[in-house]
Amino acid sequence: MTEAVYIVYMTLIGVAVGSFLNVVVDRLPLGQSLVRGRSHCDACLHPLAFYDLVPLFSYLWLRGRCRYCTAKIPWRVPLVEAVAGALFGWTAYQFGASLETFVVLLSVCVLIVIFFIDLEHQLILNVVLLVSLPVIAILFPFGSIGSEYNAGEAYLRVLAGIGLGFGVMLVIYIVFRGAMGEGDVKMGALMGAAVGYPQVLAAFFVAFVASGLVALGLMAFRGAGRKDAVPFGPFLAASVIAVLLARENLYSWYLDLFSF
Ligand SMILES: [Zn+2]
Repeated sequence: MTEAVYIVYMTLIGVAVGSFLNVVVDRLPLGQSLVRGRSHCDACLHPLAFYDLVPLFSYLWLRGRCRYCTAKIPWRVPLVEAVAGALFGWTAYQFGASLETFVVLLSVCVLIVIFFIDLEHQLILNVVLLVSLPVIAILFPFGSIGSEYNAGEAYLRVLAGIGLGFGVMLVIYIVFRGAMGEGDVKMGALMGAAVGYPQVLAAFFVAFVASGLVALGLMAFRGAGRKDAVPFGPFLAASVIAVLLARENLYSWYLDLFSF
């Protein structure tokens, strides 16, 4: 019972954190302050009251439209809140009330921000990568994967993961010119910091398979050509979340796939 209360509590915390992540996704690409300035409607610039800003609830209550000018609120707003809530709840369920939960959720928040900024702007911001990479690397031994090793080995695995992640993306960047951006190469390093070696290989595998499937789906339904290339960063970010939350399950599945 207490466990259920804890999971519900963490889900609600996640929805509230998701509300802040929306502010980050809105403002960071525009170079605006994350703490100063009141929230306002993007269409009519009317400041929003606290009752317009209740996560999920306000969107549903207002039926997805601004109270003042009836402009549509982007679907990303409730989506980020719902996704953050679900991931917080799932992480709490998996790792309980532990340091692991905190470390995993820190990475999850960074990855959600990267996912949605890249989706909307085809851009992975240097400031996000530069601030988060050292923090995530230092905390790796306390996370869901790193806590399986002693601290020394965990840090070796982080360094190997960063080198391999960066290296793999750099080779792809050079060989398939134009297929990826420089942000994707740096994102490779962050992936290694978040999941270490060898799990970073599983993350790449999931990302490549998922992006291939989505590309095929788009070609089938929209007749999309190379012009509408889908940004790759969201796949990288989502696959890292999958590896973090599945722990050894996803990695052992990946090993089984390639062992004969
Ligand atoms: Zn408005």
